[in-house]
Amino acid sequence: MNAEIVCIGTELLLGDIVNTNAQYLAKRLSELGINVYYQTVVGDNPGRIRDAVQTAFSRADLVITTGGLGPTKDDISKEVVMETLGFEPVLDKVTERLVRLWLRFTGVKEVAPEQLKQAYVPKGGTILRNKFGTAPGCAMEKDGKIGILLPGPPREMKPMFETAVKKVLSQYANQTLVSVNIYTKDFLHAPVGIVGEWPVAEKISDLFDLTDPTVATYAGKANCRIRVTSRGTDREDAHRKIDPVVEDIVNRIGKEYIDHISDHD
Ligand code: ATP
Ligand code: MG
Repeated sequence: MNAEIVCIGTELLLGDIVNTNAQYLAKRLSELGINVYYQTVVGDNPGRIRDAVQTAFSRADLVITTGGLGPTKDDISKEVVMETLGFEPVLDKVTERLVRLWLRFTGVKEVAPEQLKQAYVPKGGTILRNKFGTAPGCAMEKDGKIGILLPGPPREMKPMFETAVKKVLSQYANQTLVSVNIYTKDFLHAPVGIVGEWPVAEKISDLFDLTDPTVATYAGKANCRIRVTSRGTDREDAHRKIDPVVEDIVNRIGKEYIDHISDHD
């Protein structure tokens, strides 16, 4: 597994603060045997954060961000990662109560909607509790890509890494990622009926909600590829989860429409 660290904050670019989060994370990740290939620093600018996060996911299996989890308008790292990986935001009641309690305690009467931004977490992701602040971190995995969002303040980020993040990462240690690809026949060779991505996707749309294995379709020039992905302690272990889903897909589409199946990209 290789990783990219993305540190978000204009203060870092201006040289007002030293990027100690990057150093800390780089050290910890290398101790865990995870290669860090890139470190990126980006300011609190929505467009550039989006660019940086998308670039990071295009070249790394694991993207860890720090900063931008707070309540202000420029705190958008969570929204961008959820959007990039395709996760829906849901309100976390525990954090909501905490935010409301804290604001009441500090004398704020009206809770602004931005304040509650902190309480939104990715549906189906893992919430990383913050023992030293209100904004929780979170972890999410989709199609073999892992995104982990941590708060900016080192006194919040470090304890979160030591407890919650290490636990999340231990799930992936020594694991193999396997994808099985089902290729449908092209227009010239398939019987009339199911060709192209759309009719295939319609037949298996409920499987797109699976989390392990995950299922996705890709349109080819004249056919369609269906990818089924899982992790396991070895290839055989991953295949145990993948194979029944592959069989189900082949049965739903119909063998006569399948060209070939491969477990190599
Ligand atoms: P908050 O809820 O405090 O706004 P946040 O997750 O939104 O937290 P930022 O606003 O980006 O984080 O940063 C808050 C503070 O944390 C910064 O002012 C700075 O002191 C510290 N900080 C942020 N990023 C780093 C970093 N990469 N290295 C060291 N310190 C950092
Ligand atoms: Mg902030």
